[in-house]
Amino acid sequence: MVLTLQSFAENRWVAPGAGAVEIPSAVDGRVMATASSAGVDFGAMVRFGRKVGGPALRMLTFHQRAEMLKRLAVYLTERKEALYELSFDTGATRRDSWIDIDGGIGTLFAYASRGRKELPSERFVLDGAFEPLSKNGSFVGAHILTPLHGVAVHVNAFNFPCWGMLEKLAPTILAGVPVITKPATATAYVAHAMVAMIVESGILPPGALQFVAGSTGDLLDHLTGQDVVSFTGSATTSGKLRDHPTVSREAVRFIAERDSLNAAILGSDVTPESPEFDLFVKEVAREMTAKAGQKCTAIRRVIVPRDRVEAVRDALAARLGKVAIGNPRDEKVGMGPLASQGQRHDVRENIAKLAAESEIVFGDPLHCAVVDADANAGAFLSPVLLHCANPIRAERVNHVEAFGPVSTLLPYDDLDQAIELAQRGEGSLVASAFSYDAEVTEQLVMGLAPFHGRLYLVDRDSAKEATGHGSPLPPLVHGGPGRAGGGEEMGGLRGVYHYMQRTALQGSPAKLTALTKTWGQGAPTRTEGPHPFRKNFDEISIGDTIETPARTISLEDIEHFANFTGDTFYAHMDEEAAKANPFFPGRVAHGYLILSFAAGLFVDPAPGPLLANYGLERLRFLKPVSPGDSIRVRLTVKTKRAARLPDYGEVRWDAEVFNQNNETVAQYDVLTMSARLA
Ligand code: NDP
Repeated sequence: MVLTLQSFAENRWVAPGAGAVEIPSAVDGRVMATASSAGVDFGAMVRFGRKVGGPALRMLTFHQRAEMLKRLAVYLTERKEALYELSFDTGATRRDSWIDIDGGIGTLFAYASRGRKELPSERFVLDGAFEPLSKNGSFVGAHILTPLHGVAVHVNAFNFPCWGMLEKLAPTILAGVPVITKPATATAYVAHAMVAMIVESGILPPGALQFVAGSTGDLLDHLTGQDVVSFTGSATTSGKLRDHPTVSREAVRFIAERDSLNAAILGSDVTPESPEFDLFVKEVAREMTAKAGQKCTAIRRVIVPRDRVEAVRDALAARLGKVAIGNPRDEKVGMGPLASQGQRHDVRENIAKLAAESEIVFGDPLHCAVVDADANAGAFLSPVLLHCANPIRAERVNHVEAFGPVSTLLPYDDLDQAIELAQRGEGSLVASAFSYDAEVTEQLVMGLAPFHGRLYLVDRDSAKEATGHGSPLPPLVHGGPGRAGGGEEMGGLRGVYHYMQRTALQGSPAKLTALTKTWGQGAPTRTEGPHPFRKNFDEISIGDTIETPARTISLEDIEHFANFTGDTFYAHMDEEAAKANPFFPGRVAHGYLILSFAAGLFVDPAPGPLLANYGLERLRFLKPVSPGDSIRVRLTVKTKRAARLPDYGEVRWDAEVFNQNNETVAQYDVLTMSARLA
């Protein structure tokens, strides 16, 4: 059955208009689907996102949005088999589809969890601490992040129809911004099926997700500075979109992730006998064949010490020779076809360009034996390994990206040359360094880091659990400078903040505390009423404060503490040695003694709603405390957030310990868990 792909605009499916394109199966060429966006009113789509989707998302807190992402992830997991079945026809093996489908759903789970743990139960983020701006502290600054009021246009590549969509969708929805997503047409039927599931789930509010099957028409003409375009694909299309008159006139945020000639470098310390040698060969072969090399992160340039080229070539050829190519539905098959005949044509053309300055040492670009398929009907291509003997003189190996199972061996004479070769990629998403030598690794990292978004450092110690050169992960930045597009995706909350505006606020501490729901130095405190440890989470207010009486610390206290804990460090026990230390006037109290006495001063001991102290943050000891000094504490409720379990809440307290001269001797945040009102 041929699927008719529809766009989902203004909360309804729009039947395709004229000029639908046919999308063939990569495996046998039969028409899988037709797609056209003719008939879609892109202006209305953008307005619907802005007027309906945006406000609905912005009404929710980060925690509520995170909850939606999690429900969506569960919903898709329960239905993913249908996606796996469709995905075979894109040329993907089950393992390839696992990266795409489960990898994409995993991104939803990851952002749901981060949103819940690392973002407040609010609609804005306070970015960093208050900044003092005046001598007497009555005027301070702070930064907040709020969701943009526009739409996020996501334009995706053909290689990962599910992951590509979800790794952009998750941070955007968490930020509170509606999405218009457009998959590459070649594999749009898989993205379409996933969007149909999302729509059917009813989990996202109307307008939060719209979908374009086919071309984007005049979509970009309707954008403003409140919108974002996030693109994955070729440098040519990226350039076109970035230079679109509306995008440049309106300063529309533009995030691009595009062609990248990623490198893997075999360290100069690695011999064929080292474990790192086998790890290197395995990784290169895997990257060449996973997803038939159609990965933005795949290894295109294999940079090895000149005297080890033959050993690497032979080992790679042996591995590649064992990969069965054919129908991805067949479990014996390790590599399926490319996404389309057109894609294979482009890859063959690029192999020919590379071969002008390199020799093919493995594979035949024009023929390959296939399993369980018709070699002519599907877009099958053998892995092709080239060798460029003089890469420093060569041009094309550093410019031509054959987006398929194609890599080139580049010999180097010393590490500086290896770095120079990697840098000639003019900015890449990722490079791998295989070495067990700390100095070699350091030299590579310092040379490669400015040219790469991610460095994958592998050795025998990490190999077993290492996640793979080609796998972008939600907590880590995915993107790269220069040729790789200059964008950054994911990277934990960094990816969320791309869809938000950072704004500096200036005002009194009281005003900024009220606005940000975070107590800052100089804001009013409240000491009346019961001890705050006697209050339930819901009764506690930001600014509630305990001012304790003072306690004098004696030499006996210090000695007792030292002997009791075993911390008999000379600064506490040996007057002469302590005096010789530039930081101490003589024997001083332990920092931990100060913390312990501080707790003894502010605690309310009886059982009550305060249940546990689960940590300290930002701890600094600012001034030594000598025998005879007195300390007192001010403990103020700084922030409150609902805990994962409904019966509890987390309270962050600002703790400041003063001496008898009102100088701060220690400062930190205390984190506690309190019961909520029943
Ligand atoms: P394209 O740049 O042609 O397409 C990427 C996306 O852009 C697709 O969704 C495509 O839609 C869309 N697009 C194309 N033209 C326009 C336009 N004028 N306005 C708006 N959207 C547009 O890349 P391909 O997917 O065809 O791949 C070509 C090459 O890109 C590969 O050979 C490879 O070199 C590189 N690539 C890089 C990737 C990466 O992740 N870095 C991933 C995939 C490819 P449609 O399909 O409908 O044309």
